[in-house]
Amino acid sequence: MLLLEYKKQFSTALKKEYPVEEISSFFNILTAHYLNVTRLDLALDPKKEISSEELIIFDKILLQLQQHEPIQYIIGETEFFGLKFQVDKNVLIPRPETEELVSWILTDLSENKTSALKILDIGTGSGCIAISLAKNLPNSKLTALDISEEALKIASNNAELNGVKVVFENKDILNLDKPLDSFDIIVSNPPYVRDLEKKEMHRNVLENEPEAALYVRDNDPLVFYEAITKLAHFNLSKGGYLYFEINQYLAKETEELMQESGFKTNLKKDIFGNFRMIRGIKQ
Ligand code: GLN
Repeated sequence: MLLLEYKKQFSTALKKEYPVEEISSFFNILTAHYLNVTRLDLALDPKKEISSEELIIFDKILLQLQQHEPIQYIIGETEFFGLKFQVDKNVLIPRPETEELVSWILTDLSENKTSALKILDIGTGSGCIAISLAKNLPNSKLTALDISEEALKIASNNAELNGVKVVFENKDILNLDKPLDSFDIIVSNPPYVRDLEKKEMHRNVLENEPEAALYVRDNDPLVFYEAITKLAHFNLSKGGYLYFEINQYLAKETEELMQESGFKTNLKKDIFGNFRMIRGIKQ
């Protein structure tokens, strides 16, 4: 069958579930991943055929997409900050907002790019923050923690895949067994979604991504922010930076909490115009 013809079939099959732009992005991701064909290649070679083996794979994926499985889990990888990351259901799929957080950190450090900074990433998941920082700050020393052993396996693979060294440790930040080292920068994108916000979320997230990475604990939406701010109060060097990705509806509360611990704070909006990140400078 002609690949272009299959594209029509593919689009029709998903029409009820997704907007057209998203379907076309799925198709582009799949053809790039499995057939090594870009959109441009297809435009230049409209007679490109799809084999019957490939058709079987694509039809299986089509069913998964109809069930709202995220494309990134289906193909097992995604891109973050220009780097490739392996992902599966044990880790949150890296979001563009988190790229903005990394970008903020790197901008702040633009004059210190060659310093030997000690950086800690808490709740690393796929390792996307720690690894992209390590890649861009070649002399820094990255440590990354996660409560999930499965996530840490993925994160270690990703560090190897991207040729950087990160020290990964299995720790529950709410129940630390012993004190941590001191750091120049601490960053975290902890779980921050409350029950009341679930109605804003899509099926692909709700039904597939790890609950432990998304939802707040014990009905306390700031439990991770409190624990990490307290830790940063003791383990961050003077003038050190604490960065969080935050719940847009709790920006004020997060800011107050950090100020009470003696941090000078700045909030920052993401591309969607929501307060999505905060920086605290230790006084
Ligand atoms: N931004 C994510 C979402 O909306 C949540 C990430 C998090 O809880 N840290 O799905």
